[in-house]
Amino acid sequence: MRLSRYFLPVLKENPSEAQIVSHRLMLRAGMIKQSSAGIYSWLPLGFKVLRKIENIVHEEQARAGHHAMLMPTIQSADLWRESGRYDAYGEEMLRIKDRGGRDMLFTPTAEELITDIFRAHVSSYKDLPLTMYQIQWKFRDEIRPRFGVMRGREFLMKDGYNFDLTKEDALHAYNRHLVSYLRTYERMGLRAIPMRADSGPIGGDDTHEFLVLADTGESEVFYDSAVTDLTFGDREIDYDSVEQCAAIMEEFTSKYARTDETHDEALFGEVPEERRRTARGIEVGQIFYFGTKYSEAMGATVQGPDGKNVPVHMGSHGIGVSRLLGAIIEASHDDNGIIWPEGVTPFHAGIVNLKQGDAEADAACEALYASLTALGLEPLYDDRNERAGGKFATMDLIGLPWRITVGPRGLKNGVVELTSRRTGESEEMPPEQAVERIR
Ligand code: ATP
Ligand code: MG
Ligand code: MG
Ligand code: MG
Repeated sequence: MRLSRYFLPVLKENPSEAQIVSHRLMLRAGMIKQSSAGIYSWLPLGFKVLRKIENIVHEEQARAGHHAMLMPTIQSADLWRESGRYDAYGEEMLRIKDRGGRDMLFTPTAEELITDIFRAHVSSYKDLPLTMYQIQWKFRDEIRPRFGVMRGREFLMKDGYNFDLTKEDALHAYNRHLVSYLRTYERMGLRAIPMRADSGPIGGDDTHEFLVLADTGESEVFYDSAVTDLTFGDREIDYDSVEQCAAIMEEFTSKYARTDETHDEALFGEVPEERRRTARGIEVGQIFYFGTKYSEAMGATVQGPDGKNVPVHMGSHGIGVSRLLGAIIEASHDDNGIIWPEGVTPFHAGIVNLKQGDAEADAACEALYASLTALGLEPLYDDRNERAGGKFATMDLIGLPWRITVGPRGLKNGVVELTSRRTGESEEMPPEQAVERIR
């Protein structure tokens, strides 16, 4: 992409409405624009990162054997009356009437709709296990939408639903989700800690939230500092293996880590004092096992091996896809702007031309652009007629992992400058070598 042709409405001033750094930086970097309280347009740069995050979620869900699908945002109230949640959900649900006077709603989550699809098409245990998921816009009429995309009213969520014959099978699905989520967040450069939590309006007993530690987080959390040393890494995993998934579940959840909703002072007191931590965290996901709550209410049964009809065991599993942009920025920025982790960066490298219009500098930039593109990488070339200082500030603000600076003086010696956004370190080298480093 050439910056002269891109839509990147960068703000010089700090927007006064933004209270936390991620919101401020997303507005300043021209990633989002608020259209009304808690509702945002995603401008090209923000949308690019959103898509990267979605892609990681899709890849990891596919790896775990879950099927992507898509359900409507506007749903009929009737289904929600069957489960009893139409009345129970309260003011967070946006209720709509169509022209025929029928009660509709904008989906805040989709247990009812997926259960309806399931009961219409599945009647035998032979079709289980089954897990389907979508990445779809949700609406919750939050009392206090704030912090930009962190607590929006309209937000993008991955929501997945498992259907299993027995509780045991459903708990395997639960563990499988936990494992896939650990991988998912790590690929985004995040450390998200599973913590025992409360189930809220979804219902159920078993639930973990995934929290990213950050001072601006809205949840209060209590944990054994040993949990922050755990990493999933690139271990091979067989998602069908009950033992393997259970072992990882055990490894990542046996140490004390709870949100304030389930915090237990007495248990916390058993953690060695020097490892006891109280902090704040951002909830980036949650997994639930809720058994037959919806299947019983809505008649979602299957015929078991013994010929008897039994309600299926279910769970649901969410990832805050749009909230993740805020969480990643909260976890990865400095005074000059965002520092994107490689896995989600909107462009792989920025090219800064120090003397636009200089034949040699222009040609060198074009050549770099072509070789990066040929490698399947996406460079952002600042080809505007701007001063170097302004170009550097923009690159730092939008946070690409690498910057290649090209100027006539360096080119005389056959070199360009390669700068790492994370470390700030610069090194001069021939252009081909810079490309090699980035790939
Ligand atoms: P919160 O406690 O922050 O209100 P929740 O527990 O109500 O979230 P879930 O029903 O667990 O949310 O939804 C799954 C995920 O969707 C959450 O873990 C979170 O990352 C994301 N999410 C929930 N509400 C919002 C929101 N208003 N804006 C952005 N993301 C959200
Ligand atoms: Mg909520
Ligand atoms: Mg919550
Ligand atoms: Mg939750």
